[in-house]
Amino acid sequence: MSIHELPYLKDKVNELKEEGVYRKLPVNTGACDAVVDFEGKKVINLSSNNYLGLANHPRTKKAAIEAVEKYGVGAGAVRTIVGNMDIHEKLERVLAEFKREEAVMVFQSGFNCNAGTIQAITGKGDLIISDELNHASIIDGVRLSRADRAVFRHSDMSHLEEILKEKRDQYNNILIITDGVFSMDGDIAKLPEIVELAEQYNAMTYVDDAHGSGVLGESGRGTVDHFGLHGKVDFIIGTLSKAIGVVGGYVAGKQVMKDWLLHRGRPILFSTALPPAAVGAIIESVTMLMESTEYTDRLWDNAKYFKEKVSKLGFDIGHSETPITPVIIGNEAKTVEFSKRLLDNGVFVSAIVFPTVAKGTGRIRCMITADHTKEQLDEAINTIERVGKEMELI
Ligand code: PMP
Repeated sequence: MSIHELPYLKDKVNELKEEGVYRKLPVNTGACDAVVDFEGKKVINLSSNNYLGLANHPRTKKAAIEAVEKYGVGAGAVRTIVGNMDIHEKLERVLAEFKREEAVMVFQSGFNCNAGTIQAITGKGDLIISDELNHASIIDGVRLSRADRAVFRHSDMSHLEEILKEKRDQYNNILIITDGVFSMDGDIAKLPEIVELAEQYNAMTYVDDAHGSGVLGESGRGTVDHFGLHGKVDFIIGTLSKAIGVVGGYVAGKQVMKDWLLHRGRPILFSTALPPAAVGAIIESVTMLMESTEYTDRLWDNAKYFKEKVSKLGFDIGHSETPITPVIIGNEAKTVEFSKRLLDNGVFVSAIVFPTVAKGTGRIRCMITADHTKEQLDEAINTIERVGKEMELI
């Protein structure tokens, strides 16, 4: 086989097929609503991060169109050259107000916010201590940093303290990083304990609140607000692609952090600014959250309803404390099969397998949103029950 046919990748893809975990992507021909249209087949969508239904809301769409009319479709350059529009500045002011922090630096995605920020705020002679279940973008950010690294067992405070005790004197700065809400299990970080340990050992804290922002705290202000820890977490990351419904990421914290990122945050320096349509829509989403708890209230009402019913069916839903509802199956091939059969029966819920989660902990991850009706949730629950029984999972 010629090298141009990439035989080494063909072998790897064939391995995936043999393991039963090779998937084709479904194609959604409409918006990412509670029901999606997969090329003519309408299915209940239990897989989106569009927690509050703002991705296809008349107000956010109108704001996007207005921003396009005024600013065009592209920012035209990186922020630090000529891509910095007044709408980007406004977005950062609105987000800082929402998060109740001094300053916000916006990135083009949550992924590159983690990758760019961690790299910029740590260096040689520092230590990063990271929860073992932190998101892939944190792991990549840590890899890009010149700091040393240590990993603590998931939410294990005595392990974190052990590392702090042993390492504190060997390093300049120590940064403890955790997800606010863990994306594959839906559990919340033990932030009060982490902050207490950080203060005790003179370390800084960094929380990736991609799944907490727009979900937890007053009007969805996030995990820090949920625990009343304003001013005690140094770097608060959020994404604009999930509850906020658009695209982008940000870090909230002190003005000096923003000043530094403007000079050393590589995605800020080397990647084009967010498009105006996205920025206009995000400002509208955040404004809507600050105006009313209608969206977050509906989200939690739906989440509680769904979780209680699925758990009663006898499924293992782990220890989720948020709308993320993992239904843990274990075996990877069975998990993929379960997801396929659910789709055949009108419910789209994606299978999450290794390497996204540890081997042997395959799950379907049900994402409940404010947009689901109780009828849609009931239909999904009935289908999960029927297919689960067919496959002898319950
Ligand atoms: N952090 C966490 C915890 C996430 O779940 C995600 C999204 N999967 C990201 C960061 C990346 O965010 P984005 O999709 O905005 O790049």
